[in-house]
Amino acid sequence: MAIDTVIAADYEVVIGLEVHSQLLTKSKMFCSCSTDYAYAAPNTHVCPICMGMPGVLPVMNQQAIAYTIMTALALNCEIPRYSKFDRKNYPYPDLMKGYQISQYDIPLSKNGYLTIDHNGQKKRIGITRVHLEEDTARLLHHDGYSLVDINRSGTPLMEIVSEPDLRSPEEARLYMQKLREILVYLGVSSGRMEEGSLRCDANISIRPKGQQDLGVKTEIKNMNSFRSVERALTYEAQRQIELLRTGQTIHQETRGWVETRGVTVPQRSKEYAHDYRYFPEPDLPPLLISSDWVEELRAQLPELPDARRARYIEEYGLSAQDANVLTEDKALGDYFEQVLAVSHSSDLKDRAKAVANLVLNDVVRLLKSNSISVSESPLSPAASANLLDLLEKERITGKQAKDVLEEAFASGKMPDTIVKEKGIEPPISDQNALERIVEEVIANNSKAASDYRAGKTNALQRLIGQVMKQTRGQARADSVRKILIEKLDETTTN
Ligand SMILES: [Zn+2]
Repeated sequence: MAIDTVIAADYEVVIGLEVHSQLLTKSKMFCSCSTDYAYAAPNTHVCPICMGMPGVLPVMNQQAIAYTIMTALALNCEIPRYSKFDRKNYPYPDLMKGYQISQYDIPLSKNGYLTIDHNGQKKRIGITRVHLEEDTARLLHHDGYSLVDINRSGTPLMEIVSEPDLRSPEEARLYMQKLREILVYLGVSSGRMEEGSLRCDANISIRPKGQQDLGVKTEIKNMNSFRSVERALTYEAQRQIELLRTGQTIHQETRGWVETRGVTVPQRSKEYAHDYRYFPEPDLPPLLISSDWVEELRAQLPELPDARRARYIEEYGLSAQDANVLTEDKALGDYFEQVLAVSHSSDLKDRAKAVANLVLNDVVRLLKSNSISVSESPLSPAASANLLDLLEKERITGKQAKDVLEEAFASGKMPDTIVKEKGIEPPISDQNALERIVEEVIANNSKAASDYRAGKTNALQRLIGQVMKQTRGQARADSVRKILIEKLDETTTN
């Protein structure tokens, strides 16, 4: 793509992200309605408060405030002692009260950062603030009319605003992925961008390299996946550069990303450049956040992805690549640790390596081909550990293990039960018996044997196949290979 070269040569891209995340509280932000409306019929999770009826009073959801503070702590933010909610006034059909309860000048937290890894370099991205507000209702547009579903109205919505520290669409994607990981580890967000529970808007501008002043920015909305974040910003950077290069003007505006066409288009904005007439929310008391409570919440923070990744490399001796894949998905990392906790081999690092291989190769493959997530895996951590145990004790061969694994995954049975039920014989561990079979196979396949000796190494595979057939798969492939090579070399020198 030409864009990257052009950007690198003459222009610098400046991006800041505003990420909205619904919080995983049981009830809504200011009423007791359930937030579990994802698969419910429209307007079934509503009450006079979230419908915006006159004369009702909101009551704060303490859990939502706790989740926001925990997120802010994980993002290295300061938590001021005093905070408050404000009214953001604008009329729109999805806004039931005609105003949104949000936070304006004194958010719950500010001045933090998040670290991304880009091409092996660590880079700190500033976090301006993390604040709390309420989600709006949803409009369902039909041909010529629109319907409103109020279920979403009043769901706690946390907003995380970054500094304009991102310098490429790729960095924006990495930031978004890292942020999502942290939110999921904290258990405050489902992280599901495709369901709209995690949403991202971006401010993007460009400037000639070396210029200090920021260029005119546009705001991009409707990016529903990591991929679309990167694509939309790449498109928009290119569009802005083209305008500048051809002497045209960049207008400050809101643009929507159209996934199907791969372009951003101007949006008739409901709120751009409006005066929101913010004022302190008179129906809610100010928030006094005690340092005791903040410390209590800090103590509840789980191990975060960076720390877990470092531990997997240090303590378990895993490669950076394996550690990355296992920690990107918290549930997969949890599964790995559960298997490790119940498996028995003596050396921790050997055991960790074996568990990582099984999880990353076989378990992930089976999950993918069955389209299920690791938390729904029919193969329990105990079953995985049991399989590794059978291999370790040489009760089954690697080839048999594959079949037993498939069966265990399909049936949910323990591997040792399957081995018993199927009457799988222990592998041939009698070295002499195996050597006799190998000699026999070499004698009966003189063509393959002489091919191998002539340097055609794939002939060895044919001989291994023959031995496995003779032993009905009960020999360990690595032993067979070793004995075969020995015997073949022996007969050459004779
Ligand atoms: Zn309600």
